[in-house]
Amino acid sequence: MSERSAEVVICGAGIAGVAAAYHLAVRRGVRDVVLVDERPPLTLTSDKSAECYRNWWPGPGDAMVAAMNRSIDLLEELAHESGNVFRMNRRGYLFATADPERVPLFVRAAEEAAALGVGPLRRHDRAGSDYQPAPDATFDANLTGTDLVTDRSLIRRHFGWLADDTVALLHARRCGWLSGQQLGMYLLERARDKGVRLLEGRVEGVETAGGRVAAVKVCGAGGARTIATPRFVAAGGPLMRALGRLVGADLPLFCERHAKVSFTDTLGALPREAPLTIWTDPVRLPWSDEERAELAGSEHRRLLEEFPAGVHGRPEGAGDSRAVLLIWTYDVESVEPSFPVTFDPTYAEIVIRGMARMVPAMAGYLPRLPRAFVDGGYYTKTRENRFLAGPLPLDGAFVIGGLSGYGIMASNTAADLLADHVTGRPLPAYAPAFLPSRYEDPAYRASLETWGDSGQL
Ligand SMILES: Cc1cc2nc3c(=O)[nH]c(=O)nc-3n(C[C@H](O)[C@H](O)[C@H](O)COP(=O)(O)OP(=O)(O)OC[C@H]3O[C@@H](n4cnc5c(N)ncnc54)[C@H](O)[C@@H]3O)c2cc1C
Repeated sequence: MSERSAEVVICGAGIAGVAAAYHLAVRRGVRDVVLVDERPPLTLTSDKSAECYRNWWPGPGDAMVAAMNRSIDLLEELAHESGNVFRMNRRGYLFATADPERVPLFVRAAEEAAALGVGPLRRHDRAGSDYQPAPDATFDANLTGTDLVTDRSLIRRHFGWLADDTVALLHARRCGWLSGQQLGMYLLERARDKGVRLLEGRVEGVETAGGRVAAVKVCGAGGARTIATPRFVAAGGPLMRALGRLVGADLPLFCERHAKVSFTDTLGALPREAPLTIWTDPVRLPWSDEERAELAGSEHRRLLEEFPAGVHGRPEGAGDSRAVLLIWTYDVESVEPSFPVTFDPTYAEIVIRGMARMVPAMAGYLPRLPRAFVDGGYYTKTRENRFLAGPLPLDGAFVIGGLSGYGIMASNTAADLLADHVTGRPLPAYAPAFLPSRYEDPAYRASLETWGDSGQL
């Protein structure tokens, strides 16, 4: 090992790069891995996440579900070996509706999900059904599949805090949340135990020799240095396209700005044992007559229009914490990433008002909004919202990214796959779905035109 050479240089110490370092060094025994970042580890996007995970993903094909099941298997292994330092739970994702016409859609989605490997659908249409919500803190590794609850008394018994007109719940069970920061630190510590070196600096160039990666140029406080290496892994999160250009690749990625709202739920509107709960109906925000009249004549008229489905939230923190996290992706566009990220100042109010449709006690905050903290970052996405893990055209160059709004949950499967590519090991059946080269196939490109649900919440 020398300061001037490495077996693999990874650029980016977000959750993707850290997981890549872990899987290469700890699970594949690769020596002499250098992890370079111009920022402290896990601080650009990876500490902005809502930290949820799910095996509930749409097709086409079963690649996304298979990859995510693999990630959750790995997360469970890590939770077991570490004494669950990252507090993984299995509360589930609870999709709720007040629209009876949505019930057959829930059934169809759950049946399709079962066929893709999410697990079986169980129906609960009687008050005496054996439906059970999840344990609050621990994870029961056997919980999988989905529970469809359509008996109104059962809904009220278990989820009396939801809107009275809720007619159905779809509870996806191999889902929950964890501490992404603790997970990242655990992976980083294990990787460092196996010799991974963390280097502060900006990757500014990749040198080639004989048509393959030969060295990586890093500029830091101590000046510029060149690390001779046969392998370079780009894990630059929202800054990935620039990294791609360093190895001559035009990566098929774009960024969307996303934010979450957190505040102290002093009214106890969302019970501490709640799952991640998602309202699947469009919403009109609640306003008083006076507010409505005022908005109608103002530049904020759109706040009177219907907002799309998908407002969601969950309790955050253990012990005495009363924090809640809320998210609503009601308007997104592709943007050039810039830092620090700024957000619409009305976002927190819109999300809390939207959430009040699903959790009526949230309306208690409307006369006087709580002091809410808004933060977030960029989802770095491919067109069909499937990540990239694999080789780039330049020999010795690899990418792990495009992890969108699911990088905490998917970093382990993506890094596991990347490590198989880097070390030339046999690849799992789902590997082709995540190859950067998949877009070279005209049939695949054509399929993007009619691609359905991207799985984004
Ligand atoms: C509001 C929000 C909610 C989310 N919720 C969830 C969720 O519930 N569950 C989930 O799984 N995921 C969620 N995500 C997504 C998740 O946070 C991201 O997918 C993940 O953090 C991406 O990790 P990354 O390592 O690819 O990128 P980053 O964390 O951004 O790391 C990239 C790193 O690369 C470094 N870098 C880039 N270029 C260079 C260079 N030239 N030289 C040196 N360093 C460089 C940067 O400094 C940075 O540290 C959410 C994201 C947001 C914004």
